[in-house]
Amino acid sequence: MTAALVHAAFQQAGEAMVVADADLKVLVANTAFAELARLEAAQLQGLCLYKLVDESCMAMDLREMLRTSDQVKTEFMFRNHLGQSAPVLLSLSGVRDADGKLSHYMMVISDLMALAASGRKTGREVYFDALTGLPNRELLGQLMNESIEHARRRGAQLALCVLDVDHFKTINDTHGQEIGDQLITQLAHRISHLVQGDDILARIGGDEFALLLQQGADEETLAWLLNSIAAPLFLKGIMLKVTVSLGVALYPQDDVEGDVLLRHATQAMHRAKQQGRNIFHVFDSRFDRELQAREEQRRRFQRAITDNELCLHYQPQVDMLDGRVIGLEALVRWQHPERGLLPPGAFLPLIEGSSLDDRLGEWVLEAALQQLEAWGQEGVNLPINVNISPSHLLSEDFVERLTLMLSRHPEVPVTRLKLEILESTALSDLPAALETMRRCQELGIDFAIDDFGTGYSSLTHMRQLPVDLIKIDQSFVRDMLDDPGDLAIVESVIFMANRFKRPMLAEGVETIEHARRLLALGCAQAQGYGIAKPMPSTDLPAWLSEWSERHDWTALAMQVMPPSGESSTSSAACRIGN
Ligand code: C2E
Ligand code: MG
Ligand code: MG
Repeated sequence: MTAALVHAAFQQAGEAMVVADADLKVLVANTAFAELARLEAAQLQGLCLYKLVDESCMAMDLREMLRTSDQVKTEFMFRNHLGQSAPVLLSLSGVRDADGKLSHYMMVISDLMALAASGRKTGREVYFDALTGLPNRELLGQLMNESIEHARRRGAQLALCVLDVDHFKTINDTHGQEIGDQLITQLAHRISHLVQGDDILARIGGDEFALLLQQGADEETLAWLLNSIAAPLFLKGIMLKVTVSLGVALYPQDDVEGDVLLRHATQAMHRAKQQGRNIFHVFDSRFDRELQAREEQRRRFQRAITDNELCLHYQPQVDMLDGRVIGLEALVRWQHPERGLLPPGAFLPLIEGSSLDDRLGEWVLEAALQQLEAWGQEGVNLPINVNISPSHLLSEDFVERLTLMLSRHPEVPVTRLKLEILESTALSDLPAALETMRRCQELGIDFAIDDFGTGYSSLTHMRQLPVDLIKIDQSFVRDMLDDPGDLAIVESVIFMANRFKRPMLAEGVETIEHARRLLALGCAQAQGYGIAKPMPSTDLPAWLSEWSERHDWTALAMQVMPPSGESSTSSAACRIGN
């Protein structure tokens, strides 16, 4: 074989080839390489190989790989002199002389897109989708990381879109898989014509494409994309109007690795589906961070339950007609090791509607039952009111689980446990709420409706719900002495409760003045800071003996003028005192 033949073969080879010296300086490049690089062969001479691939930030990786081996094979995004990029397979081999000294390098670059298009079975189909010839998820992953690195260095923007065909399954089921396949192929074709040379379109699932826009994308572009994709398609004489749902993750706003960016774009696509399809949704990294932080807080709260960091405080409820203590409301607290004693407002919103809501509810019920058992043994026979969250009450096996818990505390009379539910609980699923309440009542458990007056349909509820106590919301009671509007609400609730013959209790009774006024209006039961703040169970015996000495409160009924008019039918108040 002559040197001339070798040279001709080198020059005319279909693969892009370069021979470089030991310092990686180009000695000679063949025609295919010059074409790929969009440079004259002469311009290539003397260039460092690192420089050639530097555009695609391979240089550092290459340097690293060459340190440990003479042979390097890797895929990357090759960017030519005009700035266009294409996925390539790079193969770099060291050439050693007779003494074993590294004297040259031979670099071969294969254009992967061209390979796929030619349909050659080279093993490279691992990276391409057989139906459309587009890069698959695997190759997309590699190309994406390349593009991100490039964008990072250039301070450029990227937009990664995930497009999912709307109702693809229906199309497949109606017209058959062949039409389905054709549809995917045509869509691939259509989308690839909508984008720029160096944008990357990949097929990442049955009816799912990913599109990496190297220049980023604004809302106008995204809307245009959707609109252009939605133009009718003709398949075997059938006209189909196909739309996609589009999710977008933007780099660097969302500064993450390629696989995470893809996950975010997919999440956004699912949001677009939920919001009605044929629309785009941009992933909001701030929202996602908040979501993750919430997840973390929830995990922390779960530990609080298992590590026994929760406790119950108890707030007495009294009958102002005779000063009797009639019960206690159990209010949950979190004894946080770093943040101190936290009120429910600091953690309930976090778990609202999650499965933790039910777990907390069960913890509270169990703790209250244990307390009732302990008090029973000490001769304190007061009922405990437990707050039940909407989702807990409406959970499927609420009654069964409650029955089980009660059975574990046979010494506790069932009537000592009372449940407080919010007006809104009933609103969300009235028939289910009514059924659960009825079954609990069969067990002997009474209900109170909490924060009454704050819901939208208080009147309906007062009539429909089988509750044994109406708790007038503290926000109205607290300000009733100064605010005529709040006073009017308190008066109306008392009036209605009397008309419907329902016992009532006022929350937020902060002073004896409130108490006097409420008694005069016909409401005898009260709870509030004026009587006692919520306290640990250990403080209760001391409070009980102190309470019996507070004659200003216990003798309240004597000081109050008999109420007059409709709302004054003290029958309600008397009944409560019974
Ligand atoms: P709620 O059931 O209406 O409980 C009454 C709340 O009002 C308690 O707040 C109590 O400390 C406060 N309060 C009582 N008297 C007064 C007063 O005179 N003035 C003022 N300004 N406030 C008074 P807390 O303990 O912070 O509880 C807030 C809410 O958290 C409760 O409102 C209840 O809806 C919920 N909650 C408390 N414990 C539990 C629980 O174990 N499970 C569930 N699901 N919710 C609970
Ligand atoms: Mg309550
Ligand atoms: Mg309340």
